[in-house]
Amino acid sequence: MKERDPAHATAEWVIGSRHSGGKKVSQALAPEQLDHAIALAPHIWWVGHRLPGDPFQCHSYLIEWGDQSVLLDPGSPLTFPETLRKVQEVIPLAQVRTIICHHQDPDITAILPHLDRVILRPDAQILSHWRAITLLKHLGLRRLPFRCVEQMGWQLDLGGRLLQFIFTPYLHFPGAFCTFDVSSGILFSSDIFGGLSADAALFAQDESCFESIRTFHEHYMPSRDILAHGMSNLEQLPLRLLAPQHGSLIPEPLISFVINQLKGLDCGLFLLTHTNSDYRRLSQLNRMLREMMQTIMVYRDFAEVVERILELAAPLLPVVGLEFYTQMESGEPLHMAPESRFHGVRATPPQACHGLLGMSRQQWWQRCTGHVHALAAGALEIPGETQQIHGLVLPLFSSQTDMVRSLAILRLTEAVILDEELIRIVDQLSLPLGVAVERESLLRVMDAERQQAYERSIRDALTGLYTRHYMQEALVRLCQIHNRDPEATIAVAAFDVDHFKSVNDQFGHGMGDQVLRRVARVLVDNSRSVDLPVRLGGEELVLFIIGATREIAVTITERIRARIEQLQFEAPMQERQVTISGGVAFRTVQEPIEHVMERADMALYQAKKGGRNRIVISN
Ligand code: GH3
Ligand code: MG
Ligand code: MG
Repeated sequence: MKERDPAHATAEWVIGSRHSGGKKVSQALAPEQLDHAIALAPHIWWVGHRLPGDPFQCHSYLIEWGDQSVLLDPGSPLTFPETLRKVQEVIPLAQVRTIICHHQDPDITAILPHLDRVILRPDAQILSHWRAITLLKHLGLRRLPFRCVEQMGWQLDLGGRLLQFIFTPYLHFPGAFCTFDVSSGILFSSDIFGGLSADAALFAQDESCFESIRTFHEHYMPSRDILAHGMSNLEQLPLRLLAPQHGSLIPEPLISFVINQLKGLDCGLFLLTHTNSDYRRLSQLNRMLREMMQTIMVYRDFAEVVERILELAAPLLPVVGLEFYTQMESGEPLHMAPESRFHGVRATPPQACHGLLGMSRQQWWQRCTGHVHALAAGALEIPGETQQIHGLVLPLFSSQTDMVRSLAILRLTEAVILDEELIRIVDQLSLPLGVAVERESLLRVMDAERQQAYERSIRDALTGLYTRHYMQEALVRLCQIHNRDPEATIAVAAFDVDHFKSVNDQFGHGMGDQVLRRVARVLVDNSRSVDLPVRLGGEELVLFIIGATREIAVTITERIRARIEQLQFEAPMQERQVTISGGVAFRTVQEPIEHVMERADMALYQAKKGGRNRIVISN
């Protein structure tokens, strides 16, 4: 037995294809060249045999690696004598330790009982997936043991050469897998990428090779989704040559073309049905749902999520608009629609949707048509026949309470017939929509709580006036503005309730609190939104009057004093008059605010000293 050098005549062909840079894919081999083993790459050999006139050709391959050599899909009694001859052109059969069977079909495995008799080395093994092994054991082999690729961690280390097994279930067999030779980038792809042709070139020449691949896959592969899934797994690999069991081998320049074609191919079940059939729609729907879930994870902005969902749903539904009503923790409905860029405003759902929010699943089923609630054109105020359906309402159930947490309203451009298929499509939409809306309303609640916490930190709980903390923050800005623009004046009016202690003493603390609230109310009612009414502590209040002249500021302060004096209280305080004293100071540009406040305080002190219930202006 003479060993052949990979750089022999046939190898030249391979080198031609691998280094052609994608321009010149390959040259056809003369028929007599197929009588020999053909080197595909260093150490990798085609050792198949073609039966004349048989479109169902099966390739065998040899990985020559000393005494760890591997034979892939050895063949049947019809082909193996020739395969064996080619193997022996390269190495003695005794060098073969491992036989890989990508599945159990007889064209690749019928020779196993023979090999069981002739391969005598004790460490020899047959590798396959457990589902194929379950069937292959019925061949009744005595010597060669089966090993499951899944129990080997999906790989086989030949010692300096690694084979990876790629699981491609249902393509075309439940336990189907491919073998990837990491060093050469060759994928022994089993039935995937196979073609049916009696006289196919051993190496695909150009894109026309896809025609025979198409026929084979249309019949053998169970569904487009399963095939597309397999393709997306395989295309992750650094592929340099596809070596299938049938048809032509596909060199690197054609690989991505073939993969892309197969991703969109209708096959298996899809071929049994008519155009626009259930299967076709189901597959489209599956793809749409997958993409929607991805969209929801990738896009952060809800408006973008909705836009994308509309795009994805367009091939299945004449949908032009999508809006939501969701129930907040408080029970209030929030409307998320394009007008507000889905930021959510408080609004009640249209009349036709009344009572739907908060329903239990059972109630929904009693009231609505299965999964959806159809809206007549009139319900959405769309001009046209009111009997026609122009909108669909989907319930989005809360994952916790199983009540309708939100409603998704789909606006349609044209009337649709609410048949079972449509209901199913719409029903499927509710899962990704529910996830998107639930996440979004969670963000809204968090936003609202943050806003509330902030409000609490800046507002005094008893009076609702700003806190000293917020005052300090706001004054920094107000002073900066005043320094730049002397017209943006700051007048500080400090107030203190007169003899307040005695209110508490005579009428109790509760009454004292009420007095404080009423007094604070007067401050607020007599200030504008730019002004800053603050409770400094106790019954000491201060109003920062912004952008007013001295005269106006004094008038405001005086009016506050007068209004308080006129306040009427309920029993038992009906006879008691409440008064305040005030001191006003005007900030000069660049004056530290503490300084102005001190001056206002001094004026207030003067007012107290002068007999109370009066305003003193600081000069
Ligand atoms: P003056 O005219 O000199 O201001 O007399 P006054 O009684 O108001 O004197 P003082 O400022 O010493 O008294 C303030 C009182 O305000 C003491 C305290 O018990 C009461 N007080 C402070 N904060 C509160 C509050 O939140 N609620 C109530 N009810 N009373 C408060
Ligand atoms: Mg006081
Ligand atoms: Mg007081």
